[in-house]
Amino acid sequence: MKPVIALVGRPNVGKSTLFNRMTKSRDAIVADFAGLTRDRHYGDGRLGNREFIVIDTGGFEPDSSTGIVKEMAKQTRQAVAEADAVVFVVDVRTGLSGQDQDIARYLRQANKRTFLAVNKAEGMSDSPLLAEFHELGMGEPHPISAAHGQGIRSLLEAVLEPFGPESDEEPPPEEEGVIRIAVAGRPNVGKSTLINTWLGEERLVAFDMPGTTRDAISVDFERHGQKFKLIDTAGLRRKGKVFEAIEKFSVVKTLQAIADAHVVLLLIDATQGVSDQDAHIAGYVLDSGRAVVVAINKWDAIDSYQREQLERSIEHRLAFLKFAPLHRISALKRQGLGPLWNAMADAYASAFKKMTTPVLTRLIQEAVDHQQPKKHGLSRPKLRYAHQGGMNPPIVVIHGTALDGVTDVYKRYLEGRIRAHYKLVGTPLRIELRSAK
Ligand code: GDP
Ligand code: GDP
Repeated sequence: MKPVIALVGRPNVGKSTLFNRMTKSRDAIVADFAGLTRDRHYGDGRLGNREFIVIDTGGFEPDSSTGIVKEMAKQTRQAVAEADAVVFVVDVRTGLSGQDQDIARYLRQANKRTFLAVNKAEGMSDSPLLAEFHELGMGEPHPISAAHGQGIRSLLEAVLEPFGPESDEEPPPEEEGVIRIAVAGRPNVGKSTLINTWLGEERLVAFDMPGTTRDAISVDFERHGQKFKLIDTAGLRRKGKVFEAIEKFSVVKTLQAIADAHVVLLLIDATQGVSDQDAHIAGYVLDSGRAVVVAINKWDAIDSYQREQLERSIEHRLAFLKFAPLHRISALKRQGLGPLWNAMADAYASAFKKMTTPVLTRLIQEAVDHQQPKKHGLSRPKLRYAHQGGMNPPIVVIHGTALDGVTDVYKRYLEGRIRAHYKLVGTPLRIELRSAK
């Protein structure tokens, strides 16, 4: 499991700048005024080969009792509850404030491992200005500059220290032939209904239901001889033989389940359309490189006009998941569920497809014979050979000269040819270009 780090502090201290620095994402908002409302942002970070999840929170005023500020405080409390460690961010330029004191008091009660990051301290690693922050009683202040990327590595090393050293060890081998599935989707899309339907179907043999552990719900089952493992799905709890939705939906759990899966089944609620949250989850799935199958659930509940509208909106809003097969299902009425299994198995097979160097090289050469890459400046990119660089997602590494000049359009053309040859469905395909020096 990836450790989770929450960034907490009053508005404008530099939390989202730090978030962007840690995740290298362009996703979070950075704005130069106080009190901007914003959602929590979640991103993947990496230090060496250690991965973690970062949560950026809005500005935090623990004692607020009304309006937007109260909502932001609630969001922050939830982020802290989900986190393994908290980075409390303060601003050396404005100095210690009463609000910082309030937040420190709250964090002490929250009883999470907390690190104090004194931001905007570019070029001030031993300035006397840092000393006053000792007063917060949050341990040694870590001077950082989120904007200039200073001190962040050593801060992260301290935060991640208990989660084990950086290592080059391979992860433990996976159970062979078991397809790991995460069912993702916001509350109420029908996740527990679908899972209960699956488990209730005769042809599904649940062969290893875990005991009564309240939270960990991974379920192994078999269909037509294929083993599946349904991994912990956010927002569900097992009660006896059935799963039920619980109120608290955890984005962190969703992200961890996605990271742990081979194939993500992304559920969309037909009666609600594609929401921002759906699009966010989908974007995250795309970044993760996992295989994806999209299912629009509650297809039974909408009429033909609404169906048409919905299809258009999906085409538009989830265009970046074009490679994912789209299924229309009803978990409640048990419609469309058989093809879904096949789609997940196909996506898995595509994600783990073995591609040999001779075949890839021939495909690349045929593609070039059919259509050459355009000249870039004086030279024309020359594609020489290709090999497979990874699986889940499959990565094709193409070697040659002057490959900097290969356009995105041409890359997509190559991707299309490789996809067609190997009949890849439901998985992203990454193409990497390596020019000989
Ligand atoms: P948040 O409200 O805590 O998320 O703060 P932001 O990340 O939006 O940053 C608030 C302001 O502080 C922005 O104008 C940032 O450019 C600026 N800022 C962030 N980090 C640094 C830093 O390390 N040094 C300096 N000088 N300014 C910073
Ligand atoms: P979860 O929060 O994602 O686990 O969602 P639930 O499985 O609890 O479903 C939320 C609501 O949607 C329940 O009232 C279900 O009965 C209903 N629902 C689930 N699947 C379907 C479906 O295929 N069609 C219709 N009409 N309703 C459904």
